[in-house]
Amino acid sequence: MSGRDIQDLLERLSNLLRMEVRTFGLEYGLQPIQIEALTYLTRCNRYSDTPQAVTEYLGLTKGTVSQTLKVLEQKGFVKKEQDSHDKRVTHLSPTPQGRKLIVQSLPTKSLDSALATTSSLQVGKLEENLRVLLRDMQQINDRKTFAACHTCRFNEQHKNGYICGLTQEALSKREVQLICREHAYAS
Ligand code: SF4
Repeated sequence: MSGRDIQDLLERLSNLLRMEVRTFGLEYGLQPIQIEALTYLTRCNRYSDTPQAVTEYLGLTKGTVSQTLKVLEQKGFVKKEQDSHDKRVTHLSPTPQGRKLIVQSLPTKSLDSALATTSSLQVGKLEENLRVLLRDMQQINDRKTFAACHTCRFNEQHKNGYICGLTQEALSKREVQLICREHAYAS
């Protein structure tokens, strides 16, 4: 299979997923980009929940992301909080209503049904291959990886728990599953 065929398949899959997310979001007056931003905020850790990090993750302009976050806040899906140490920094977190919405919207119904008919071994292989592809493309494009903390080279497991080697702060079991803007794979 050629690179062109793979690009075609990925684009068609991505269009289908986007169409489903669009239809779902319309029920709540949300655009796909607003669902994407809200999804990110349900998955990111405390170092990555700022408007700047959302902008980097989505790869959009500051103005577009600012409008997106404003809508999510007005609709009660996201709340803002000032950093306790640095008043210039704002943290964003999904409200219970925002979390519920993402649980309902993802994975999309058709993806869920299609995966249910595929063996778990094949699904595992597919996930692994897609992860490697994403990682390689992010490296080529010089983009941040935004991957799960437990795969980061700064993640240290000690007998009492996890520590972030970059900040020297303790990480909970839940936090090591979240995505981080400072994430880096071992070279
Ligand atoms: S260990 Fe890596 S991914 Fe985890 S919080 Fe620290 S920098 Fe982020």
